Amino acid sequence: MRIPMIAGNWKMNTTVAEAVALIKEMRPGLDRIDNVDKVVCPPFVSLAALKELLAGSSVKLGAQNLYFEEKGAYTGEISPLMLAELCQMVIIGHSERRQYFNETVELVDKKVQAALKAGLKPILCIGETPRENEAGKTEEVLTRQLSLTAKQAYHSGLVLAYEPIWAIGTGKAATGGQADQTIGFIRRHIAEQHGREIAQSVRILYGGSVTADNIAEFIKQPEIDGALVGGASLKASQFLGIVKQTSEIKRVK
Ligand code: PEP
Repeated sequence: MRIPMIAGNWKMNTTVAEAVALIKEMRPGLDRIDNVDKVVCPPFVSLAALKELLAGSSVKLGAQNLYFEEKGAYTGEISPLMLAELCQMVIIGHSERRQYFNETVELVDKKVQAALKAGLKPILCIGETPRENEAGKTEEVLTRQLSLTAKQAYHSGLVLAYEPIWAIGTGKAATGGQADQTIGFIRRHIAEQHGREIAQSVRILYGGSVTADNIAEFIKQPEIDGALVGGASLKASQFLGIVKQTSEIKRVK
């Protein structure tokens, strides 16, 4: 049984004061739901404040990125060791980082390894551009993006998020069927690479314009274990709605 997960990627939104207000609004409702892993990923600068506010809560905290070195002369970067004091999870390889900060498959894998070494669970994002999708290259792209991910990473609790870039922040979500089919491909590919047991145990989330209005369509699909949510994770009522529906649909299954 894979425990469903809903993770909120707040991206470069919320000041510390706003992040504090948002978590205070969300925490009570989120804490009432016990069969879903709930994760919020605020900007780095709010992690310490949110860690305190989430003491004793079942809501997990995640960062949105890290650097792979433990420490040193890397001005402006944040190390896995620093994050390990503050949070449990970290988003790695988000398409915005691959696109705007030139993160390669090799760099992303170094970050995954560094996160795991520090005891952080990565949410590794993969997904194709609109052009790759139109050219029928989705499976090829996903295969390349997963080529360096080691069996040990899956064993250590790595979570995957399939986020087609054409669906992120565009309001044009994939259909439940499309997402299920591609995530089914990812699972079969992992089975070929690392065996059926790993493939059946890894959690694979869908991400791309998920809201409280369309989450049911995704979560009722057999291959989809949850969602990575951007825009809708910044509104307490939306995020709670997404987590609640996930809880109800996956409980019945
Ligand atoms: C994301 O940034 O991971 C994401 C899925 O964004 P949105 O939900 O806004 O499309």
